[in-house]
This record gives sequence, C-alpha cells and structure tokens, in this order.
Amino acid sequence: MREQILGLTTPLTAIVFMTTLLLLWQRGGVGRHVLAFAFGYFFFGLGFGITHLFPTDSPFLFHATQLFYALASGCLIWGVCDRIGVAVSLPALGMTYGAAALALVAAVVLSQDAGPRLVIVNTGYGVMFVIGTVTLLGSTRREWIDRLIIAALAINAADFLLRPSLTLLAEGAIPVAEYRQSIYYSVINLVLTVKALGMAMVLLGASFHDLVRNVRERGSFDSMTGLRIRHAFEKEADRRLATAAHDGVPVCMVVADIDHFKQVNDLWGHQAGDSAIAAFGELLGSMIREEDLAGRVGGEEFCVLVWDCRGDAAARLAERVRLTFSHLVHPALGEGICLTASFGVVQRQGRESYHTMFARADAELYRAKNGGRNRVASEGEAGQADRPNGDGEGDSTVQTMPRIAAA
Ligand code: GH3
Ligand code: MG
Ligand code: MG
Repeated sequence: MREQILGLTTPLTAIVFMTTLLLLWQRGGVGRHVLAFAFGYFFFGLGFGITHLFPTDSPFLFHATQLFYALASGCLIWGVCDRIGVAVSLPALGMTYGAAALALVAAVVLSQDAGPRLVIVNTGYGVMFVIGTVTLLGSTRREWIDRLIIAALAINAADFLLRPSLTLLAEGAIPVAEYRQSIYYSVINLVLTVKALGMAMVLLGASFHDLVRNVRERGSFDSMTGLRIRHAFEKEADRRLATAAHDGVPVCMVVADIDHFKQVNDLWGHQAGDSAIAAFGELLGSMIREEDLAGRVGGEEFCVLVWDCRGDAAARLAERVRLTFSHLVHPALGEGICLTASFGVVQRQGRESYHTMFARADAELYRAKNGGRNRVASEGEAGQADRPNGDGEGDSTVQTMPRIAAA
C-alpha cells in the first residue's frame, strides 16, 4: 500500500507540469509547442498511472501503457522541433512505434518474462529520441537553451537505449506478474521521476525564455509605424554591418526626415502628425525588401540599411519612396493634403561603423534640406541635391507651411 501511494508521485507530478504548461499556453505569448508539451505530460502520467495501479500481466494494459508513453515521447519531440521551426518526421516516429509495438506483440505471446518486452519498448523510445536529437542538430539555431534541449533529448535517448539492458543484466528474468516488485521497477520509478522533473525544468525554462524574448522583441518595435525603435535598430544594424564586413556584402544607408513637420503639428494637431508619421513608416516598410532593415530613429526621422546594394540603387529606392510619399493623401490633415520628405543616401566605405555611416548619411540629408527639401541627396552625386526633383517639385511653393499639394 505504501509503495502504491509513493508510486503516485510520478503521475501526480506529471499532472502538475501538465497544468502549469497548459496555463502558460492559455495565457498566450508562447507557441503551440507548449500545448504539445502539456499533452506529453498528460500521456506520460496516464501511462505511468496505468502501470502502477492496474495488473501488470494484462497484455492489453501493457500495450496501452506503451502507446501512451509513445504518444508522450512523440508530443515532446514534435514540440521541441516545432519550437525552433524544424519539422520532425512524423512517419519516422510513427514507424518506430509501429515496429516496437509489433515486436512487443511477439514478445508478449512468446514469453512471460517482462525483460524482452522492456528492452523492445525502451529501444523504440530511444530511437524516437535519436530521431528528435538528429532533427534538432540539423537546425542552425544554437542558443544556450537550444543546446540544453538537445542535451536533454540525447540523455533520454541514451537512457532508453542502455538502462533496460543494464538493469536486466543485473536482475535477470522478471516474471510479468511480479514486475512491480522488481529492482527494474524501482529503478525506472526513480529514473522516470528524475527525467520528468529535469525535462519539465528544461521545457518550462525554454517556454519562459521564449516568452521573455517575445516581450523584448515586441518592445523593440515602434507601435506607431511597426518599424524598429532607435536602440533596437542600431543594435541590429551593428550586427548586420559586422556580417556584411565578414561576407563582403556592400551596404547602403538611407536616412529620411519629413519636411516642415513642426508646422504639421501646429496646423493640424499632434494626432494628425502621428498619423502622417505612421503613414510614412508603413510606406517605407512596404517599399523595402525583406533583407533590408528599417527603423524609426527619431520623431519623424527614419533610417534604412539597404542590404547588398550600391549607392545608385539605394538612391533610386529613396527616390521611389520620396515620390510615392509626396503623392500620398493624408485624410487626417484634410482633403487632398500631401506632405514631402527629404533623403540622404550613402554607401558604406570599407568597414566603417554604423555611427560614422549615419553621420555621413545625415550630412547628405542636411544637404537635401538645404537644397530645397523634397529631394534625395546622394554622396555619389554631389550637387544633385541642389537641383530640382525629377517631378519638378521642390517645397518652394510653400514658404510658411508644409508643402501642400493637390493630390
Ligand atoms: P525640416 O523640414 O527641416 O525637417 O523641418 P521640421 O519642422 O520637420 O523640423 P524637425 O525635423 O526638426 O522637426 C521635427 C518635429 O517633429 C518636432 C516635433 O514637434 C515633431 N515630432 C517629433 N516626434 C513626434 C511624434 O511622435 N508625433 C508628432 N505628431 N510629432 C512629432
Ligand atoms: Mg523634419
Ligand atoms: Mg526631424
């Protein structure tokens, strides 16, 4: 009786972990894999509960237990792979279970010794964990938590593949009806509890780690424009410039500033100004490529790091954005009101830093402003900023307010 009660520790612990994971998933901010982890603990608790509370010589219950353990392993392995966006082969997992289940049928028919059954089913789980480990190793993601998960899976694989044979070597045959009195059973009780605890720590740790990262990432983006805020932009730009220097990728920088913006606020109010900033940010975000990086680096100032690009292509990009923005109508400002923006463009020289590059791009922007605004100034084409735009529109039409054009 005492052992019966003590043995409930493992399934009850599994229920606690399942509930914690379910709550975490239900609160949101974590992926669907956390739900898979919760199901994993549910199946594990169910499997262990059946072994512990029901007769061990029932072939049906033995098969049912193994099915639940296989489902638990499958949920866990699928979940850790899904977490990092790699697909584990479900047919491979299913076939491994199927092969183990078939071998188990033969073992149940042929022998009343629990030993062969235990080796067969544990080998099946071991192979499933090997499949999971190899799948994770195929991914390039290697944060410390990812390494920890890989290690946890590899330990599980080694345990399933080695422990049964080693324990049985020491113990010899185990009549099925006396399974719960065996040394094997005591060992597995202890090992499963420790593994369930350890794995729960790793999985909960990974879930909280992901949650914190999501929150931090959300804080890196400006809610008005959907672009990165200055600090996050600079950090990412530094990282990409280091990669570009390493891989020899040419990079350009475009800085943009909306013209006469103080007057937008003065004339139409701060909220209308906000909507114009949002419109510019969204436009900029939609006109760059996925590999480019855009950020809102000031109130109505923006910066784009244009990847794998030379100066004239970046200037053409800036020109396209300038032209599109200058024709964009802002309903919050009034019927047919358009705004303009000025742009500075530079190409990276050697391995120059973000700040040096930004200072040069900013100087170009200053030149565009001085040249009459609503234009692109590019380092490669000195004097260009002094010329009128291709669309023939500077902001000279407006002296005391933002350039307002009929759309
Ligand atoms: P210029 O053409 O030389 O750029 O003139 P400007 O009036 O746009 O001058 P500047 O770029 O220095 O002015 C930026 C103004 O943008 C100052 C500030 O009142 C306004 N601003 C900054 N952040 C925000 C914001 O989040 N919302 C709104 N509505 N206005 C902002
Ligand atoms: Mg401005
Ligand atoms: Mg400004």
